[in-house]
Amino acid sequence: MRKLELHWQILIGMLLGILFGFAMTQVTWGIDFVSDWIQPLGTIFVKLLKLIAIPLILASLVKGISDLKDISKFKNIGLRTIGTYIVTTVVAITIGLLLVNVIKPGNGISEETVTKLTDTYAGDAGVTSKLEEASRQKESGPLQFLVDMVPDNAFSAMSDNALMLQVIFFAIILAISMLLIGEKSAKPLKDFFDSLNDVVLKMVDLIMLTAPYAVFALLAGVVVSSSDPDLLLALLKYAGVVVLGLFLMIVFYSIVVTAYTKKNPFWFLKEMSPAQLLAFSTSSSAATLPVTMERVEEHIGVDKEVSSFVLPVGATINMDGTSLYQGVAAVFISQALGFDLTFSGQLTIILTALLASIGSAAVPGAGMVMLVIVLESIGFPSDKLAIGLALIFAVDRPLDMCRTIVNVTGDAMVSMVVAKSVGKLGDPHVEEWDDHLDQVKGS
Ligand code: ASP
Repeated sequence: MRKLELHWQILIGMLLGILFGFAMTQVTWGIDFVSDWIQPLGTIFVKLLKLIAIPLILASLVKGISDLKDISKFKNIGLRTIGTYIVTTVVAITIGLLLVNVIKPGNGISEETVTKLTDTYAGDAGVTSKLEEASRQKESGPLQFLVDMVPDNAFSAMSDNALMLQVIFFAIILAISMLLIGEKSAKPLKDFFDSLNDVVLKMVDLIMLTAPYAVFALLAGVVVSSSDPDLLLALLKYAGVVVLGLFLMIVFYSIVVTAYTKKNPFWFLKEMSPAQLLAFSTSSSAATLPVTMERVEEHIGVDKEVSSFVLPVGATINMDGTSLYQGVAAVFISQALGFDLTFSGQLTIILTALLASIGSAAVPGAGMVMLVIVLESIGFPSDKLAIGLALIFAVDRPLDMCRTIVNVTGDAMVSMVVAKSVGKLGDPHVEEWDDHLDQVKGS
C-alpha cells in the first residue's frame, strides 16, 4: 500500500492531537497527564530540530558561499535578499493596517470584556515577562543590533541558538576567506563542510520521521494549556482580522510565485506544507529552519548558493506574519482603549513594525515583546501597556502559530525569487521519502 504523503501524516497527527487535547480537558486527570506524559515528546522533537539548526546554518552557508567562486555574486545575492525582505515586510504591515482600519475590531469591544481581560491577564506572569523583556531590549543603543551581530567567540556563538546571526556572520567571513585563499588550500575545509552539510540534511530526514507523532504531542499540549473559551470568543473579530491578513499574505506570495518564477503556486504551497505545518505546531521559525531548508533545496529546486544564505537570514530577520500582527495589534489596542491614533502614528507603525519584526527572535511569543516597542513609538501611555497586552494575550498563542506559517512561507518565497533572479532556480531533486524510511527501517 502506498504510504500517505508526509504533509497528510503531519496533518492527521495535528488533528488527532487537538481532539485528544480536548478530550483530556474533560477528565480530571487529563491536563496533568498531557503535561507529564505527552507534551515532553513534543519538546524533545523541538529540541532535536534546534540541535541541528546551528550545524546546518554553518555547513550550508560555508558550502553555499565557497561554491560561488566569485565574491561579487555573494554581494549581489545579499543585496537582493535584504531588499526583497524589506519590500515583503512593508507589504505585510500595510495589509494589516488597511484591514484593521477598515474592519475596526477594537471599536465594538465592550467595557465589560476589557475589564475581564485586564483582570485576568494584566498581572499575569506571561504579560509581565514580555514587558520586562521589552524594557531590556529598549535600553540598548541604536547600533546595538550591529554590535550583537559580531561574535567575540565563535564557539560560544555556536553554543546558543539565540545567537544565530553571530553564527551567520562567522560563517560568512569564514567562507569568504576560503574563497580568497583559493580552491586548493581551502579544499580540505570545504570537503569537511560539504560532508557535514549532507549529514545534517540526513539528520533532518531522520528527525522528520517522528514529526507526525511529535505534532500530536505539541498540539495536545497547546489545547490543554489554552485560555478560557469565552475570552477567546470575545477576541474573535481581532483574531479574524489577523488571520485574514495572514491569508492575504499567502495569496500575495502565490501571486509573486506565479508572476515572477512562473511556477504553480499550489505546487509551491504543497511542497512547503510540511515546513508550514511544523511552523504552526512549534510556533518557531528557528526550530522549523532545518525543514524549511530541506524543502526549499530538495523539493522546490532553489540552489544551495542562494538558500543557504537567504533562509537562515530570513528566519532571523524576515517576519512578515509577525510584522502584520504587530500592526494589527497596535491599532486594535488603541481602538479598544480609546487611544487616539493619528495618520502619522500609523506611518510610524510601518517603520517600527518593520524594525520590530527584524528584531524579533524566531521563537514562540517573541512578536509580542517587540509589540511593546511599536506601542511606545506611537506614544501609547506606558502605564497602560500591561492592559494593552492583556487585551490580546488570550489569543496570542494561536495567532503566533498562524503568523509563524507566514514567516516561514515568506522566507521560502523570497529564496525562490532571489534564486530566479540570479538564474539559480532549478528542478527539484527530491529524494523519495519512502526511500529514507526504508533505509532507516533497514529494508
Ligand atoms: N513565533 C514567531 C516565529 O518564530 C515569532 C513571533 O511572531 O512571535 O517566527
